[in-house]
Amino acid sequence: MAETKWVYGFDEVADAEKHTGGDWDGVRALLGGKGANLGDMTRLGVPVPPGYTVTTEACLAYLAGGEEFPPGCWDQIETALGRVEKATGKRFGDPREPLLVSCRSGAKFSMPGMMDTVLNIGLNDEVAEGMVRLTGDERFVYDSYRRLVQMFGGVVLGQPDEAFEEVLERHRHEAGVAIDSELSADRLKAIVAEFRALAPGFPIDPRQQLRLATEAVFKSWNGKRAIDYRNAAGIAHDLGTAVNIQTMVFGNMGEGSATGVAMSRNATTGEAKIEGDYLINAQGEDVVAGIRATKPLEQLADDLPEMYDQFAAIAARLERHYREMQDMEFTVERGKLWILQTRAGKRTAQAAVRIAADLADEGLISREEAVMRVKPDQVDFFLHPQFSAESLRGAVKLAKGLNVSPGAAVGIAAFDADLAERWAKVDGKPTIMVRPETKPDDVHGMLAAEGILTSRGGRTSHAALVARQFGKPAVVGVAELEIDMAARTLTVAGRTITEGDWISIDGTSGAVYLGRLETVVPDISDPWLMKLLSWADELRTLRVRANADYPVDAERARRYGAEGIGLTRTEHMFFETERLPLVQKMIMTTDPAERAEALAGLLPYQRGDFEGLFRAMDGLPVIIRLIDPPLHEFLPSSHDLTKRLIDLKVEEARGAAVAGDIAEVEGLLARVEALHEANPMLGTRGVRLGIMIPELTRMQVRAVFEAACNVTRDGVKVHPEVMIPLVSHVNELKRQREVLEAEARQVMAEQGLEIEYLFGTMIEIPRAALTAEEIAQYAEFFSFGTNDLTQTTFGISRDDAESGFLMRYLSEGILAENPFATLDRNGVGKIMRLAVEGGRATRPNLEVGICGEHGGDPKSIALCHELGLDYVSCSPFRVPIARLAAAQAAVEMPR
Ligand code: PEP
Ligand code: MG
Repeated sequence: MAETKWVYGFDEVADAEKHTGGDWDGVRALLGGKGANLGDMTRLGVPVPPGYTVTTEACLAYLAGGEEFPPGCWDQIETALGRVEKATGKRFGDPREPLLVSCRSGAKFSMPGMMDTVLNIGLNDEVAEGMVRLTGDERFVYDSYRRLVQMFGGVVLGQPDEAFEEVLERHRHEAGVAIDSELSADRLKAIVAEFRALAPGFPIDPRQQLRLATEAVFKSWNGKRAIDYRNAAGIAHDLGTAVNIQTMVFGNMGEGSATGVAMSRNATTGEAKIEGDYLINAQGEDVVAGIRATKPLEQLADDLPEMYDQFAAIAARLERHYREMQDMEFTVERGKLWILQTRAGKRTAQAAVRIAADLADEGLISREEAVMRVKPDQVDFFLHPQFSAESLRGAVKLAKGLNVSPGAAVGIAAFDADLAERWAKVDGKPTIMVRPETKPDDVHGMLAAEGILTSRGGRTSHAALVARQFGKPAVVGVAELEIDMAARTLTVAGRTITEGDWISIDGTSGAVYLGRLETVVPDISDPWLMKLLSWADELRTLRVRANADYPVDAERARRYGAEGIGLTRTEHMFFETERLPLVQKMIMTTDPAERAEALAGLLPYQRGDFEGLFRAMDGLPVIIRLIDPPLHEFLPSSHDLTKRLIDLKVEEARGAAVAGDIAEVEGLLARVEALHEANPMLGTRGVRLGIMIPELTRMQVRAVFEAACNVTRDGVKVHPEVMIPLVSHVNELKRQREVLEAEARQVMAEQGLEIEYLFGTMIEIPRAALTAEEIAQYAEFFSFGTNDLTQTTFGISRDDAESGFLMRYLSEGILAENPFATLDRNGVGKIMRLAVEGGRATRPNLEVGICGEHGGDPKSIALCHELGLDYVSCSPFRVPIARLAAAQAAVEMPR
């Protein structure tokens, strides 16, 4: 039987491939990530300092065999070393032409916690003297020697590094210098002697140095830190580590030497131009340590033009080979360029998009791959302002809450909507609206503000929904905020912010900062993003619609690529100042004639709203959902009314003529109390309201169809879809459909026009999903309202949960993910699957979508794709993200 091959030269990677059956993953397991990479670069013809890898199999055999090299292993190491000597023309341990090597560990996965590096192996007193004769640089030689003793002492012999650092510190002090590179050759010589005394086990024999360093790497696989790391990272314990022995090259051998790090493209902008930093006559750590000011890579073209050209060519070659932007380390030793390492480079969101698009255009990767390489959340970067890196550096962070609507916002704190609006609109001051929570009648302030900050509420709270829809940065549920509405102050982290003081919030991270940070604004029209999204559109099968209530949102949604509106919450229109009195009248009155009058007053407003939406979405479907929330939300709170009543009575006692006002407030209060429900979320809302007050349904339907007729006359193509919320029983839908059809027919007859439309329902109560076969007899489309569906499936209130026990569930791992942010696959997802199957069994061409907040969450979008939905609908600002996420789902799960 042939002897096991324990050692592979960097130039023998093809043999390793043969050994593992041509599988690159197998090569990485055998040679470790670093060894495989060095071998791969060598095969490419990249100048890598020669060396060899002792395999992970040798490591495992060594550890299993009682810390003995397996048979043949050391001989193979000797042979490999001989080949390195031949390749370099140097000899290990020979003072006349000394070869120095480094020893590094390298497991399949990069693993901090293992023995890392010993440099300059091969030096002793005799070799050092020989090197001084050769190089004429005594300083350099003894600095290299002291590094060897220090590293060997630390990582092989286990001496604490502080002992060595103390010696260095004393010598720096005595010499009156600040940094090691200013120490003289004589001092370094003395330091070597002192270091040797600190490391009595340091072997003089270079071969012994090599042997002990190799064994130390093997043993470090079972070191406590390495085991702890593997346990934490879920890495198997039976992989072993490889050892890489590599010729040392020196960038500090004079003016013709240099060392640096570089990226094959700009890591900030993605521009296809190499960038990096280097130092002439320096070692790698000098570049990283930042002691000397580095030079930008372009200057290498002047300093060492030939080296620059070679490096640029190699960077391009590595990029072509790995089909990815590379982050490289290089050294020039006396006019010869060496590449020490290459790996995929880290980059900003902006660079990630441009690099992916450019690599596809250059033919290095497919468009599919380009689409897969950008994370959906990176797209978000282009849609919102961000804090500049400089401003964050000195920022005082006050608290962290839920990051419900991304982007950075800066403004002066305003504690109510009217003030926020006045400051913003009249005085032109940017504001952050700060509230314990927001309510529908705060919307005008939220719209005027730069951002929203609340101490209560969760991911589907009013503040979060509205903020996301309008792309306002928002941080909610910051429990530590103590808002004192009477004093108009906010106290957090021991600081008190008074109304009018500057604060900054980051809706992307959830952080709240003191003062006025600087923001930078990226751009959705970035040409590379546009290109990447257009490729995503070609790949995806899910369509993407937007949740939009106002024409401006609809226009923005369309600019961002929405293919229709998936949800218009019509009740949002009821809160506008001039409409609210009519709404309140409609609710208050018991007289049918008066109610009809109030509704007639609302009709033109609603018609106008719908016309705007239809025009903005010309040619695309628009889902209009009939009113959803319980009526008491439109009335003032009983607390406010009671206070008002007391004030009025006091005035009356003082003789004011306020009897009429008192009667009005008493009436309102009586109605609020009559409408009061212990559980309004489970009360008279959604379709139940339409059944209680059919005139309301009629008015809304009339507004939809009159609007549709009006814009049709102007040549706009309308595709209205009328949607009924909160249905749980087929009979509810049947009733509403009768009302709708009669009214729609009447309007069309009056107008002399036929409008094609769809009638459908939200699926947001489990019973509706479970009886989808029946429901689909009356519904031409389903739209999953997963905010309510999650609430009703879990029995967790969507408004309170995120500030209470749910957070605990998440921190303790009872739930892995927040079900209000990411669809709960096993529960809610299962109910959705039943609904899709049941609905399509009755009506094969049933249109199915989602309009809950999950419609903008990439992971939930993947589930929607898997369930065979036709579209997802999300806030306009998440439309580009959803386009990319839908494409990624389609690539991963072809339908
Ligand atoms: C839902 O419940 O998911 C939904 C979209 O409706 P709303 O959030 O308006 O209740
Ligand atoms: Mg709902």
